[in-house]
Amino acid sequence: FIASKMQRLESLRYGANHDKVQAPHKTDNFLNNEFVPSSTTEWLEVHDPATNDVVTLVPKSTPQELQAAVASARDAVPGWQQTSIMKRQQVIFKLTNLIREHTDDLATAIVKEQGKTFGDAKGDVLRGLQVCETACGITTQLPGQVLEVAKDMETRSYREPLGIVAAICPFNFPAMIPLWSLPIAIVTGNCLILKPSERVPGAAMIIAELCRLAGVPPGVVNVVHGAHETVNFLLDEPEIKAISFVGSNKAGEYIHSRATANGKRVQANLGAKNHAALLPDADRSHALKSIAGAAFGAAGQRCMALSALVLVGSSKEWIDELVQVSSSFQVGPGFAKDSDLGPLISPQSRQRCEDIIASAEVEGAKIVLDGRGKAPEGFPRGNWVAPTIITGVKPHMRCYKEEIFAPVLVCLEADTLEEAVKIINANPYGNGAVVFTRSGPAASSFQKSVQAGQVGVNVPIPVPLPMFSFTGNKSSVAGTGLPNFYGADGLRFYTQWKTVTSFWNSSDVSTSGKHVNMV
Ligand code: NAD
Repeated sequence: FIASKMQRLESLRYGANHDKVQAPHKTDNFLNNEFVPSSTTEWLEVHDPATNDVVTLVPKSTPQELQAAVASARDAVPGWQQTSIMKRQQVIFKLTNLIREHTDDLATAIVKEQGKTFGDAKGDVLRGLQVCETACGITTQLPGQVLEVAKDMETRSYREPLGIVAAICPFNFPAMIPLWSLPIAIVTGNCLILKPSERVPGAAMIIAELCRLAGVPPGVVNVVHGAHETVNFLLDEPEIKAISFVGSNKAGEYIHSRATANGKRVQANLGAKNHAALLPDADRSHALKSIAGAAFGAAGQRCMALSALVLVGSSKEWIDELVQVSSSFQVGPGFAKDSDLGPLISPQSRQRCEDIIASAEVEGAKIVLDGRGKAPEGFPRGNWVAPTIITGVKPHMRCYKEEIFAPVLVCLEADTLEEAVKIINANPYGNGAVVFTRSGPAASSFQKSVQAGQVGVNVPIPVPLPMFSFTGNKSSVAGTGLPNFYGADGLRFYTQWKTVTSFWNSSDVSTSGKHVNMV
């Protein structure tokens, strides 16, 4: 049974005869619980980043297809909102189990389209799965408030769903980021239109199929594909009440301003430059291994990747050891057992990364570990960049100012912790900041004074688990940053208060069984 289901999922993504047919497989939209081929004439190629072979074609959905998604969601809203919360919870329980059961299948799609290693792709699924698991607790998370405010008068305040909501996703976590939104949006009674990244549609299509298998009714989850025009449609469509966006600053700032101008609620997580301050009293081996793992894992294509290291005092003497630890990381195709990191998403990303490394040298920094030109054997066409470490970096340099989103660690120096914090706080981004130290007071001082929304103390990637919220700040979010993803804030984002004040006059209680009068 499982094998046949897996085969179905495989054919869903790449066509049953993918290996035999000449024309590339085309990805469908998912409308009203059906996989619907697009009638568009415009298609976007999805490439395997390890080979640059075409994996599938993604439609730039037509306006009619996008309107069909809205119509399907509109039809589903009343029934889904009236479905009891216990029933919606049961659906999420089933979805959670199905995602767990299909972890390898989802991870396979992720490796083929995104390039990360199979182990890391399973982590991508796991972090999304944890949001589903947490959403199973909805019945204890959503209760509202009630108070008798006067004799016979009661006020109750409770959360209602918004209606139709949309999520626009980036390429780097093809399963986790759609799942930051999907379980919470639907368990609270909304209908979701999901637009995966046009570079990694496969995992979202499997999630759509798993939603159907879990008993999500038609129209509650629709998946539409496309690029900017699809996004513009979602931003302008009046029936869509909220937009969840995760991606780059350029797109996110535009999306936030256009959607809020259209009166929508928006949560938008953007780019980052995450710093670690390395103190000389740190556990050296733990710190260096952690820094290398967080800088180069997933080829640095994580919004919480550690991309800037501030060496405090004599910890600068540990650079040679950091280079040694980092050189042992193997770049290679995602399915190879000995690969520690995969390729970058596109040839353009690789080119940009190499240009930035070159610019660092021109600006006076030193490349102490150079990951350029390190294609693994048998994969000459992939977008490879191996771990790269640049020292002597100053805040004005391009390699420091820009998010590189690649396995490149830029290293700065500071004499004291205070100076390190000053450097970090001057950076416009505020996703994550980490300190490595054995000193409680130093850790406490760092935690209090650093301006980043997610702080690690000897923890290299302090991404909050889904019982908390993802709380980046400064330029790592658009707008106020108040509507955070998942956790209590995520629940609030997908619901709105309704406050009802009722008066039932107790003296009107009829003992005769007759109907009482309203005062
Ligand atoms: P991206 O901004 O290029 O794309 C994200 C989504 O926006 C895609 O679905 C894309 O179709 C759409 N889009 C892109 N440009 C657009 C435009 N001009 N108009 C309308 N829609 C547009 O991001 P990406 O390259 O896929 O993802 C990488 C970025 O995402 C990095 O900057 C990374 O830091 C960030 N990210 C942030 C978080 C976080 O939680 N802060 C998490 C993951 C990724």
